[in-house]
Amino acid sequence: MTDRRQFLRVAGGCLAHVLLQGACASPARRRAWVAPVQPVVVETPFARLEAIGPGAWAVISTPLGGDRTTFANGGLIAGRTGVVAIEGFYRPAGATWLAEQARRLTGRWPTHVVISHYHVDHAAGVSGYPTSSGGAPHLCATATTQDAVLRGGPVAPPREAELLRPWADVVLAGAGGTTSLDLGDRVLTLHAREGHTASDLVLADADAGLLFSGDLVWNGMFPNFVDADPRAWRASAQWLADRGATHLVPGHGGLADRAALDRFVALLDELEAAARRAHASGRAAAEAAADYRVPESLGDWMASPASVSRALSAWYRVFGSSEA
Ligand SMILES: [Zn+2]
Repeated sequence: MTDRRQFLRVAGGCLAHVLLQGACASPARRRAWVAPVQPVVVETPFARLEAIGPGAWAVISTPLGGDRTTFANGGLIAGRTGVVAIEGFYRPAGATWLAEQARRLTGRWPTHVVISHYHVDHAAGVSGYPTSSGGAPHLCATATTQDAVLRGGPVAPPREAELLRPWADVVLAGAGGTTSLDLGDRVLTLHAREGHTASDLVLADADAGLLFSGDLVWNGMFPNFVDADPRAWRASAQWLADRGATHLVPGHGGLADRAALDRFVALLDELEAAARRAHASGRAAAEAAADYRVPESLGDWMASPASVSRALSAWYRVFGSSEA
């Protein structure tokens, strides 16, 4: 792989985005970003597991410390007949670590792996899930995610044979539809959505009040619009809020409750309003972003001008189309 390709992939994905927001924040703010909410059952330099209900754990990654093993959030849900691991993480070692946690906490290896979208920090490490005596875990993703990974792309995982192997056989979650994962004593639902990318996949355990949103929700860190459709994103965020979950595991940042989710939805609305004002006054997105501040009423968000500019540009593309 050339340095240039590596640069494009990293620069375009959520990895560089997260590091950029962190670089713009004070050390105190970086430390406060992902404070634990629920009981911590294991902690490493790169992530911790928080217990979020019977047989359910959230992976909350802490990448601003410099260790990028997992980088994105994820989780585990165990049922009588299976164990679902959520996300493939940035490095195979991240997936291996989560599989070992599943074995330690439930006595079993993951039987399914759900990938929320194709960005490197969520999908590049999938090959690290071990193949147990029962075979490789079933990979669950949208067809768009599988396609992006197999074809390669600026923000997709590297197209290296070993890393691609798990992607040849994927349980596809239908576009706009739902797919059930029956674990015997609990039924999970995969919901194909759009907004952060065209490939977003949400995992829900409705009875337990749990949602794993992938990067459709960010907590305390400005969201990444690199592949975004801002109108679809707003609709998906509202859809998530309407589920009334007790715990939502965002793609990045600490566990989100209803108040945190409401702040994120309000931020999306505020960005649309800011984009409309700037567009109407004829300002370039980068110019408007340079003096933009997230209103204090929306809480504490790490936000870089470059990322704000990207968000405004996404809205400018909508305004420029005939549907605006
Ligand atoms: Zn992403």
